[in-house]
Amino acid sequence: MGEADAIELRGVSRSFGDVIAVDDVDLRIDSGTFFTVLGPSGCGKSTMLRIVAGLEHPDGGRVLLDGSDITAEPPERRDVSMVFQDYALFPNLDVLHNVMFPLKMRKVPRVLAKERALAALELVELHQLQSRRVNEISGGQRQRTALARSLVWNPGALLLDEPLAALDFQLRQEMQLMLKGLQERVGITFMFVTHDQTEAFRLSDRIAVMRDGKLQQVGTPEELYHKPRNLFVATFIGNINTIEGRVESVHADRVTVRCGNERLGGHSARGTLKVGQQVMVAVRPELVEWASEEYSVRAGRNRLACRVQHVGFQGAMVETTARVWGDETWLHLCMNPGAPAQPKPSETARLEWNVSDTRVFPAADRNSQVPYRAPPSPPGREADDTATASYRLSIAVTRN
Ligand code: ATP
Repeated sequence: MGEADAIELRGVSRSFGDVIAVDDVDLRIDSGTFFTVLGPSGCGKSTMLRIVAGLEHPDGGRVLLDGSDITAEPPERRDVSMVFQDYALFPNLDVLHNVMFPLKMRKVPRVLAKERALAALELVELHQLQSRRVNEISGGQRQRTALARSLVWNPGALLLDEPLAALDFQLRQEMQLMLKGLQERVGITFMFVTHDQTEAFRLSDRIAVMRDGKLQQVGTPEELYHKPRNLFVATFIGNINTIEGRVESVHADRVTVRCGNERLGGHSARGTLKVGQQVMVAVRPELVEWASEEYSVRAGRNRLACRVQHVGFQGAMVETTARVWGDETWLHLCMNPGAPAQPKPSETARLEWNVSDTRVFPAADRNSQVPYRAPPSPPGREADDTATASYRLSIAVTRN
């Protein structure tokens, strides 16, 4: 395989009329990594990928491949290859001749081209179907053919635009594992685009989260999940509970927030918050526990009284919703099924969680908050209640 190339974007922008598809993006992708651009539909992921491929020209900024400026280079002069969602294979050719095509374009002698195409097909475990026409193979096999064709000429980086989106759930899972293994074996840089958080987490060394053309945060899956920089990243990546309050004191990034009659501690997600500022206190559902007997003596913990609303056994976890401060603020909790003394619906209980697991965001971030995605209702739960709980959590009103 070829040498892995690092990819760099410096101040890259691209507009279509009034739409700013990519807005002043600075990004560095280290060579040999599996890097994913993750974001909702229309946030500019494909445009960014197409700019790297040379299929779209930026209005401003520069694109570098292994330190060399390639902004003005046409696609065929760039050491990158692209895999499309719709495969873009030639239906009149068989699998082998589809894979040989890029080598034919590069005038590689036929015998050598065949040898290399077979090796690429072996890499994606498709060499036994080399003589089939592409309309005689399955969707997953077509995607493998497209992958072999992209890799056959030894590019330094592979650009993948939602390559698994057309596959059904089961096949998609299998192909994710295949892709991850393939990247590890060939060792070149993969720049992968998806709107699916689970897929991004399964595959990636690092992820860039994008919204409205702007990069929101770049990091490992662990960094994005545990240290989201804003409420959009926190709610787009997994679920998070939010409770509104007002800052009471600030010490470096450590903040105390007055929420109703309670005080909660947390860490400012970015920059400095000011005393009196309206904020959202956020904690992941699985990090909240029922308070132990030593409730009052454990330091570094947030504590909250609640009334349990729903308890739903989900197998690996017990999904619970609870209300705090009368009717207004709801919390979603993923409890360990083995936890002792699981309170029942309408009982009052106490919750606690680590201050160090608590992130505090400016309330102004709320506009970008993605609503809570409740898991499927367990048997016996009324659908209306679930919908109301999800909605009410997403607006999380605090009573003073
Ligand atoms: P999806 O996940 O739905 O493919 P995306 O995040 O890849 O979305 P882009 O396809 O990059 O987003 O599009 C970003 C924005 O730019 C969208 O508002 C889109 O409508 C617009 N856009 C993209 N290409 C063009 C074009 N050729 N002409 C006009 N508008 C475009």
